[in-house]
Amino acid sequence: MQDPVTFLDLKAQQRRIEPALRARLEAVLAHCQFVLGPEVTELEQRLAAYAGAAHCVGVSSGTDALQIAMMAEGIGRGHAVFLPAFTYTATAEVPLVLGATPVFVDVDPRTFQIDVADLRRRIASVRAEGVLRPRAVIGVDLFGQPAPWQELRAVAEEHGLFLLDDCAQSFGASLAGRKLGREADATAISFFPSKPLGGYGDGGALLTDSAERAALYRSLRTHGEGTTRYEVLRTGMNGRLDTLQAAVLLAKLDVFEEELAARERIARIYDAALGHRVTTPARVPDSASAWAVYAILLADTAARDAIQASLRADGIPSAIYYPRPLHHQPAYAPHHRGSALPVSEDLATRILALPIHPDLTADQAAHVADAVLCGQPDRVRPVLPV
Ligand SMILES: *Cc1c(COP(=O)(O)O)cnc(C)c1O
Repeated sequence: MQDPVTFLDLKAQQRRIEPALRARLEAVLAHCQFVLGPEVTELEQRLAAYAGAAHCVGVSSGTDALQIAMMAEGIGRGHAVFLPAFTYTATAEVPLVLGATPVFVDVDPRTFQIDVADLRRRIASVRAEGVLRPRAVIGVDLFGQPAPWQELRAVAEEHGLFLLDDCAQSFGASLAGRKLGREADATAISFFPSKPLGGYGDGGALLTDSAERAALYRSLRTHGEGTTRYEVLRTGMNGRLDTLQAAVLLAKLDVFEEELAARERIARIYDAALGHRVTTPARVPDSASAWAVYAILLADTAARDAIQASLRADGIPSAIYYPRPLHHQPAYAPHHRGSALPVSEDLATRILALPIHPDLTADQAAHVADAVLCGQPDRVRPVLPV
């Protein structure tokens, strides 16, 4: 009898790292510097070194990382911010909170990453309309894989746009042999518990090679403070990373590479078992994924429903990221001018995410794959090579 398959197993991870975790937490309890304590600085240094970025600034969440990065550029009213329609809500929420307008871009049907040709078309149409000024592009590294950064940099440069990497799901991934964190002007990461490097609550960070930007981020996360706490230079926010979260993350960072390797092993088991029957994730060329999400594509919604039901019957959780593209969300639809984003709309109807986490065993992954195949409409149980 196998252990039940979970979508995420934070308890198993906790058992694996417990001594280090407790030592880190005890240290914070001993010094009581709960806000911007030494663990925050240590984590910032370790993350910057890990990603090869010059600066890292710990903040209160991935969403706040995006917001602080955009506040630092003065992005707001009258500005168009281009971002993929197939992503988590936070990517679109931030420009709107700042008074800017999100312009939704379609994604690639195979890698699910932003479609650069569609981005170019949408920039051209915003320019032609002459109402909004194109200011920024948010490239999202979706599901653990990198966005097409080389092409995005070319577009940003050509049009003089601020380029922001929403790397909330994909810290730890690499492109052309280097870790994500320096592909854009700034990179936002999230430590939400379910992300590949997750804390025990909310947290995030910004990475940048620009000393000026890093200084602005530090000021903005503490109410726009200047050189003393009681000098306010700009309108900021309370957006700091907690010391306790940094302590948890330092313990997790020690095993992060092993965990990424474990996720990769699970992905390969799924690829091998499922590739001949369902559409498994296409890899972004010359990259390594952080495997935040392993999403398969089924023929249609009925096939997805059948497989989800079959998984459920076997006690296996699955999830739909994302059931609605952002331009169809009630909150964002009024900001979208009605043009179709056919790939994002189609993916929402037939995508399905399978469990993937470092504590999933090879046997469990094989069991999940088997249940997926049993849920196929033709119900043929394949003979898997032993
Ligand atoms: C999780 C996520 C965020 C937000 O991160 P939080 O830490 O939850 O605020 C932003 N963008 C994407 C693509 C995400 O997946």
